[in-house]
Amino acid sequence: MIGTRRVDGVRLARIAHPGGVAFASIEGDGDDAQVLEIAEHPFGNNPNFTGKRWPLADVRLLAPILPSKVIAVGRNYAKHAAEFGNELPKDPMLFIKPSTTVVGPNVPIRRPRGVGRVDFEGELAIVIGQPVKNVPAARAASAILGYTVANDVSARDLQKADGQWGRAKGFDTFCPLGPWIETSLDAADLALKSEVDGVLKQDGRTSDLVHKIPELVEFVSGVMTLLPGDVILTGTPEGVGPIEDGQSVSITIEGIGTLTNPVQDV
Ligand code: ZN
Repeated sequence: MIGTRRVDGVRLARIAHPGGVAFASIEGDGDDAQVLEIAEHPFGNNPNFTGKRWPLADVRLLAPILPSKVIAVGRNYAKHAAEFGNELPKDPMLFIKPSTTVVGPNVPIRRPRGVGRVDFEGELAIVIGQPVKNVPAARAASAILGYTVANDVSARDLQKADGQWGRAKGFDTFCPLGPWIETSLDAADLALKSEVDGVLKQDGRTSDLVHKIPELVEFVSGVMTLLPGDVILTGTPEGVGPIEDGQSVSITIEGIGTLTNPVQDV
């Protein structure tokens, strides 16, 4: 099984297996799903496979990428902007979540005591595949490794009180990512659903993005150099709401999968 294979059309994951941590591709579905270890990193056209493989059930999925930065876009769905009485910004409204907000599937979202309301926000996440600056929208696809699911966890009371969003969006564990990166996906019109304890809260479509994916890549890369693995959160549809200790939040995007995290007061 040692050899090379194009990165296109695979589900890329980071896994903890009996011997350590590695990137991997996932093949097959359900009980038959297998995890194939990738040597080194998944960027470029020809990742090397080590030949090691495990049943998916025997490994733990980690955050599929450790980005140097997470760039998020605020108020990028009209109905979400309206639910808090906000105007739509003319340009994409960017903020940064520290890399230390990132956690993987099933890792608890740690909700600090005393910060007031904390909300989930289900979002499509763009994962960048190569160093880029000033990418025109028409060439955005060449900069993208793939897509994953994100939860832009937000301390809503602090967000309102501070004006700046660095604190409200920046607590450790406030950016669950996963379960893996789909490298071959047209993300222009995908269903996005969020559930808290199995109750449907958000039911949107990525076709309702105000600023579309190619435009976001052009805009963000016009500001800052994007590095392999960097993540752009594209904004959340309407229906956000609070999460409490002991609850579980699941975000599902069509064609990718479901990202589930418990919530824990700390
Ligand atoms: Zn958001």
